[in-house]
Amino acid sequence: MTTTPVDLPLLTLGRGRDPQSERGVDCPGDLPAASDPGLVERARAAKAALGDRVFVLGHHYQRDEVIQFADVTGDSFKLAREAAARPAAEYIVFCGVHFMAESADILTADHQKVVLPDLAAGCSMADMARIAQVEDAWDALERAGVAATTVPVTYMNSSADIKAFCGRHGGTVCTSSNAEVALDWAFDQHGPDTKVLFLPDQHLGRNTAVLQLGLSLEDCVVWDPLRAHGGLTPEQLADARMILWKGHCSVHGRFSPDCVDEVRERVPGVTVLVHPECTHEVVTKADLVGSTEFIITTIAAAPAGSAWAVGTELNLVQRLATEHPDKTVVFLDRTVCYCATMNRIDLPHLVWALESLVAGQEVNVIEVDPETEHFAQVALQQMLDLPGRSPRG
Ligand code: SF4
Repeated sequence: MTTTPVDLPLLTLGRGRDPQSERGVDCPGDLPAASDPGLVERARAAKAALGDRVFVLGHHYQRDEVIQFADVTGDSFKLAREAAARPAAEYIVFCGVHFMAESADILTADHQKVVLPDLAAGCSMADMARIAQVEDAWDALERAGVAATTVPVTYMNSSADIKAFCGRHGGTVCTSSNAEVALDWAFDQHGPDTKVLFLPDQHLGRNTAVLQLGLSLEDCVVWDPLRAHGGLTPEQLADARMILWKGHCSVHGRFSPDCVDEVRERVPGVTVLVHPECTHEVVTKADLVGSTEFIITTIAAAPAGSAWAVGTELNLVQRLATEHPDKTVVFLDRTVCYCATMNRIDLPHLVWALESLVAGQEVNVIEVDPETEHFAQVALQQMLDLPGRSPRG
């Protein structure tokens, strides 16, 4: 098998002004200074000038300085659907990361333009599965004689061409809310021999397969795109039920089982609530696991006086702590754990994007090519057609 060379990830922090490793760091126009005391007023004025022509989406992991200008907040799929429900908005300014803006472009009408205020806002997890690598893996599955019974399922946190790959090969997309339903559906596709190739987050795939579908850890193998043959023999591929892509979230992957032990000692009576992108060891030590929306609704519904340690992105945990002063809400890790790429979107970039639109300049427009869009839509539609939803949020 030949491994196709891959291009550099969207963002490598701390390399100065290297255009190869920091694509999109430079704005084509004048970026306002972060110290400008008028930024809030400028954002307000630009948004007011655009009126209904603009709709600003804010992912839960965005900074407060940005989220205050969001017309709606949510996870990536909710935001894309919110955008699609507003055809009057000519511009969708997506305060999130690149794959989310792509999904919004796929789900919105052709006349709507999706703007990402900073093109360097990528996602390290999405970058871990490149289409050339996935095509190579599929070739290996074909040679091992298992591709015909393998259903590719990709997490929403993947690039448009990975979603399109799933659409082309009879697969689907899932979110952290409906991964169980998506996997149930996938395992029904080719009878008892069915396998799933789960992209790109090995932890969500493993946690869902083992904890919700009752598969064993031995049913799961990990395909490493950086090793020859994915690091697996044809026999291992033939025996596996879940083929997990070796990808992870660099934020949720930081939490360790020690963090759970430590917070239980530090905060008496604490309930540990984590996102399923955390490792299997962390999830099995936690009290509750669920998607971002599940975390938000669980804390909101919790009784006053209860204590929570939350294992997800820090901006959201801090916001939950502020919104629920009657409860104790702490971050699961003692160290800082922001998503570096989510944080690329700051107030100066938002102001720059909005003011450019006011001036008639369309900047940082994210556009998925028509063929990729078609097949990605096939996979997304398959997700929408899935029966019911996971009760675990
Ligand atoms: S939190 Fe993780 S999955 Fe989400 S954008 Fe950041 S790196 Fe990607």
